[in-house]
Amino acid sequence: MPRLVGFGAGVLLFLPAASLAFALPQPADLPRCPPNTPTCLALDLYVAPSYEPADAATDDLSWLTDQLATANDRLAVIGVGLQVVSVAALPAGLSEVASKGARDRSAQRRLRPGRLAWVVVRKLVDLDGHSVLKGVTWRKAGRPWVIVSRTAWDLVLAHELGHVLGLPHSRAYRSLMNKTPRAILPGLLVFTEEEQPVMRRTLGQLLAQGWLGRVPARPP
Ligand SMILES: [Zn+2]
Repeated sequence: MPRLVGFGAGVLLFLPAASLAFALPQPADLPRCPPNTPTCLALDLYVAPSYEPADAATDDLSWLTDQLATANDRLAVIGVGLQVVSVAALPAGLSEVASKGARDRSAQRRLRPGRLAWVVVRKLVDLDGHSVLKGVTWRKAGRPWVIVSRTAWDLVLAHELGHVLGLPHSRAYRSLMNKTPRAILPGLLVFTEEEQPVMRRTLGQLLAQGWLGRVPARPP
C-alpha cells in the first residue's frame, strides 16, 4: 500500500511501502566480543524484513543487541564470544519459516567457511505445522546454523548456541538448556559445570571442521 511521505515545504510524495523501510543494522552497531575473549566467533547475520517497516530498524537493533549481549555474557564461562561480521537481508519469502524446506533455504546456500549463520525470522513454526517456536538449531550434512524468531526473549540465542556446541536439553535446575517452566530468575540461568566440557569439546571440533571460525584480530 502506498504511504504518504512529507518533505519540508509541504510537498507530498507517494512511495511504495517497501522502499521506506527496512534499514539493516551494521556489524559496528552491534555488541562485539568482550575484550580478551579467547575465542571470538564470527557470525553472518541474516535478518528477515519487518512487517512494520516504520519501527523496525530501532526495534531490531535493540533486540539484536540484547540477544548478542546475553549470549556473550553466558558463553564467557567457556571463553567464547560472538561477533557479527556481516549483515544481509533475507528474502521476503523467508520472513516466516514453517517447513523443513524453508529452514534449509534460510541459510543453506549462504553458509560461508568459518562463519556461523544467525538467521532472524519474523515467525518460526514447528514442523508439526502449528506450534510457534522461538528458536531452532538446524543442520544440513551435520553443519549447524541458528534460526531465531524475532519474538524470542533474550536468552534464546544463547540457548541455541548451547545446541550448536553439542548440548541437548537439560533437567538441571539452573541450566539455560532446561525448558521446563520453573520458578527461577532468568539472570540465574547458566551453562552448568557439567555442560561446559561438552561445549568446549564440540567447539574444538567445529573449529577444526571450519564450520565455526574466529573473528580476525584487528591490527594494533
Ligand atoms: Zn532447545
